[in-house]
Amino acid sequence: MTYTIAQVRAKSAAKLSGLLSADKAAAEALIDFAYACGVPIVITQGLRTIAEQDGLYAQGRTKPGQIVTNARGGYSYHNFSVAIDFALLLPNGGVSWDTKRDGDGDGIADWDEVVAQAKRIGWDWGGDWRTFTDLPHFEMTFGLSTADYRAGKRPTQAQLDAVIARVKGLYEEADEMTATEKAEFKALQETVAKQAETIATLEGKTKMTAIPSWATQACVNAKAAGFIDTTADGSYDFYRMITLLDRAGLFVKKGGAI
Ligand SMILES: [Zn+2]
Repeated sequence: MTYTIAQVRAKSAAKLSGLLSADKAAAEALIDFAYACGVPIVITQGLRTIAEQDGLYAQGRTKPGQIVTNARGGYSYHNFSVAIDFALLLPNGGVSWDTKRDGDGDGIADWDEVVAQAKRIGWDWGGDWRTFTDLPHFEMTFGLSTADYRAGKRPTQAQLDAVIARVKGLYEEADEMTATEKAEFKALQETVAKQAETIATLEGKTKMTAIPSWATQACVNAKAAGFIDTTADGSYDFYRMITLLDRAGLFVKKGGAI
């Protein structure tokens, strides 16, 4: 199925609710801008509590399973509402982490399109980390380390507002592009209308104002034969055809001479 943007947003709403205001706005923008690129995504993780993080850290260590994180509780930006993980949303409702998938068939991997949009919005990407790259992960940390966050430091309201303003600006930019597209479409419509006029004029020019002398007799014969009602407004091709038919003797039999 093809998703509406409302359906796509709805799938991530719960995961976004625990994020800091600025990160939430930036995550919503990522969903919207990726969708605009033809890539529906779902946010699979936003805030992860410290207890949840400890549980995840235990996986592959003191609990069965594969190691999925190097961060114990309090050492992941997810614990402080400034990180998100995403997955590609498949048409069948499933999700995919296939970084080569090209669902919209534009020749660019969907994953790369999402990463490009995220960076434009201001997210740092886990794929850029030197060790333990985390391809589905984005974070917007405001220059604070997890140690800072553990110590209780938080971004200032001004920092949060700046991100929200920037995100708003990106939406406005996108709207302006739509306005440009509208203007281009209007110009295109005008061109088409002008061309239609030109075509009508050209068609008019093919109509001859007077019967050419070489076709006069043929027209008389055709009219007399009841083959045509009027000889006015004929095109060159019309007179030519009448003349050919006349020469073929089609009108003489019935109508006779003048
Ligand atoms: Zn993550």
